[in-house]
Amino acid sequence: MRRFADAARSGVRRARDAGARAILLLVHGPNGKASYANAAAVAALAGAGSLWEPLEAREAFGDAIEPVQTLGIAEVGGEFAESTAEWIEATAAGLRLARDLAGTEPERMAPPRFAEYVQAAFRGTKVKVTVQKDVKKLQREYPLLMAVARASLGVPRHRPCVVRLEYVPKGKVVRTVLLAGKGLTYDTGGADLKTDGHMAGMSRDKGGAAAVAGLVLAAAKLALPGVRVVAELGVVRNSIGSDAFVSDEIIASHAGCRVRIGTTDADGRLVLADLLSHLRLDAAQAEGPHLFSVATLTGHSGRAVGPYNIALDNGPARAFATAETLMQIGDLVGDPFEVSRLRREDFDFVQPRSKADDTLSCNNLPSSGTARGHQFPMAFLCLASGLVKHGTDSAVPLPFTHIDIGGSGCEGGDWQHGRPSGRPLVTMLATLFGALPPA
Ligand SMILES: [Zn+2]
Repeated sequence: MRRFADAARSGVRRARDAGARAILLLVHGPNGKASYANAAAVAALAGAGSLWEPLEAREAFGDAIEPVQTLGIAEVGGEFAESTAEWIEATAAGLRLARDLAGTEPERMAPPRFAEYVQAAFRGTKVKVTVQKDVKKLQREYPLLMAVARASLGVPRHRPCVVRLEYVPKGKVVRTVLLAGKGLTYDTGGADLKTDGHMAGMSRDKGGAAAVAGLVLAAAKLALPGVRVVAELGVVRNSIGSDAFVSDEIIASHAGCRVRIGTTDADGRLVLADLLSHLRLDAAQAEGPHLFSVATLTGHSGRAVGPYNIALDNGPARAFATAETLMQIGDLVGDPFEVSRLRREDFDFVQPRSKADDTLSCNNLPSSGTARGHQFPMAFLCLASGLVKHGTDSAVPLPFTHIDIGGSGCEGGDWQHGRPSGRPLVTMLATLFGALPPA
């Protein structure tokens, strides 16, 4: 499937660079093969996405730098339905929002401006957008997130917020998808400062929140039925300064778990833990709940599997084979997943060393130099968010799937210059909403 996407991408760009302003993409699908049923839609999506130019470039040079206004798609030997075109338009709009949010530099997309951009994107849709930016309320409700944000509070334009998105479909709700997105608009590493050139590209550490926002936009544009969505985006800058949090501090999470900070560079899991704790409370009241976290969480994910999304299930999610389903559907829509497992070693790794705390956020080696570097953070998420009390044998089991896009968030794995991929939007849309491209 990705060969179709690659071919469409380079063909469309070549036509644009040759001066074409209305382009017809002709897809020769391998007819009759079920695994390639979505080849034309995937190619069209890649072709449309290839025309995206960074927000900074559009704001500097105007819309003329995206000169192609019309992209037609035809499938040789196939029929391209109107509903397929609608799916592509809505999905492309979601990906475009995700790319803008993820790809833009840290001042233009500082937390308050990130929130404004999201609000503008959802204007006129059925999605309710709420932005919580009251510092006192955030400190009470999101204590771990606010530890990460502490050194940013002195700079009003860098102050954090939590953006909440709610989509209620028409008709009966059969399932509720609850999404937590990591939105680190800049990650200096904090007091455990990123050195040796590892800081460049860290404005892209908001790819999880960006993909979640794009996913909700696409679902709302398609007016997808049956599934209610609640998303919380933690939009925070991890700065360094005299008020920065430091390793060894013990901070109680929203769920009441006393977290000992292992390194201030393990910031995303702190943000996600508080978001997931709030979503946990929503989930307990919801129809058919399933929680997800989406994050550029670890360098280890890219080291382990290269340019693939990684999904890990907790016990209740494993009973639904959620990670496996993401992997199967990901292959069909050219946005592939690998499945990782959560193991007892992951819980052992973050266990408290004394009664002073309840869990350790991280060791103090880079994740890429740590065995199970992308798996053990999920154990921390389960503990610090309180989801650990909602396992298979609990009174209220809550399925939870953690998705790490540390290897897939930027094309070519180039976090400074690569195009943001918008992944895993397409697979999640197809899996959670059953919204495969209409055949
Ligand atoms: Zn970090």
